[in-house]
Amino acid sequence: MKKTKFLKLKVREASFISRALLSSRHPVLAHLIPMRRCNLACGYCNEYDHNSKPVDFEVIKSRLDKLADLATSIVTISGGEPMMHPELDEIIHHIRQRGMIAGLISNGYYFTPERIKRLNKAGLEYLQISIDNVEPDEVSRKSLRVLDKKLRYLSEYADFHVNINSVIGGGIKNPEDALAVARRAVELGFSTTVGVIHDGDGTLKPLSKKEKDIFQEVKKMGNKDHARLNWFQDSIAEGKPYNWRCRAGARYLYICEEGLVHWCSQQRGYPGIPLEQYTMDDFDREYKTEKWCAPTCTLQCVHQVGILDNWRDPQKTPAQMAQEQKNGKSVGEMIGAD
Ligand code: SF4
Ligand code: SF4
Repeated sequence: MKKTKFLKLKVREASFISRALLSSRHPVLAHLIPMRRCNLACGYCNEYDHNSKPVDFEVIKSRLDKLADLATSIVTISGGEPMMHPELDEIIHHIRQRGMIAGLISNGYYFTPERIKRLNKAGLEYLQISIDNVEPDEVSRKSLRVLDKKLRYLSEYADFHVNINSVIGGGIKNPEDALAVARRAVELGFSTTVGVIHDGDGTLKPLSKKEKDIFQEVKKMGNKDHARLNWFQDSIAEGKPYNWRCRAGARYLYICEEGLVHWCSQQRGYPGIPLEQYTMDDFDREYKTEKWCAPTCTLQCVHQVGILDNWRDPQKTPAQMAQEQKNGKSVGEMIGAD
C-alpha cells in the first residue's frame, strides 16, 4: 500500500474512532454477505454452501445505502467466498461512494495481478486472509503452500492494507504452522494477527499447552495495535471466560445474504430483523442486551468494537429487557436507575 494512501486511511480511521467514542448511537462495523457460496469446505466452518446464487447488486446497493444512513463507519464484505461474486468491484466502489471504509475477507484463492488491480481501482482499503496450515489437509485447504503465489501477487500489486491471520485450535493439526504463516506474512510486508478458531457453535475449544506456547509466540510477531486490543485472547487461550459487553446487533451488525440483521455469524437468528426495517429502537435494544455467549466468544472483530463502549452503558439480560418492556418502563429509565 502506498505511504500517502496508508496515512490517509489512518487519518480516516482516527476520525471514525473519535466519532465512535463521542457517540454510541451508530454502527461501527458491519459484515455484509453478498453470497453464501464458497469454493472450499473448511472442517470447522458453518458459514458456506456450494450452490447459492450471488445476491443481486441492486439489492446489495440498497443494503449499503441503509448502512450508510445508519452512519456505519466500516463495511467488510465476507461470505462464503465474496471474490466469487461477479459484481464485487461495484459493491466496494459503492461502499466508498457512501463514505464508509471498505474491507474484504477472502480465502485468497482468486487473487491474480489483474484482479488485484481491479480491487485497487474499486477502492478496497483492507483485505484479510486467514491461512490455517502449511500443507492442505482434510480440515482446511487455506494453506500457505497453495496460497504463497497469491501472497506474492498481493505484495507486488495491492494498493490496500493486507492482513494475514493465522489460527490456532478448531482441529488444526500442526499449531506450529501458525508460526510459519506469520513469518511469511511479515517477510512479504503484511501485518499479521493470530486467532483462536471457534468450534461449530462459535464458542471456545480449549488450547493445549503446545498450542498456547505457539499462540503467545505468534502474537509477539504480530500487529502491536491488534495485540493491545485482543487481551481477551489470553483468557480464552487459558480456557477462562472473559467478562465484556458484546454490542452485536448495534455497534456491530452481521447482515446475511437474505438481508437480515443477526448478532454475528455464530448467533444467526437473533434478532433476525430485515435490515431495511431496522430502526434505532432495535439498535438501542440490542446495544443494551447482554449476550449469553459473550464469556467464551472468540470473534475478534466484535470484541474490538466492544472496547469502544465497555466503559459505559451496562447491559441487561434478554429476560430483564423483556420484563422491562412488558412493565412499560423505558430502557433508558431502567439503565438510569442503575
Ligand atoms: S474458506 Fe472461509 S467461508 Fe469458505 S469454507 Fe473455509 S472458512 Fe468457510
Ligand atoms: S458474544 Fe457477541 S459476537 Fe460473540 S458469539 Fe455472542 S453475539 Fe456473537
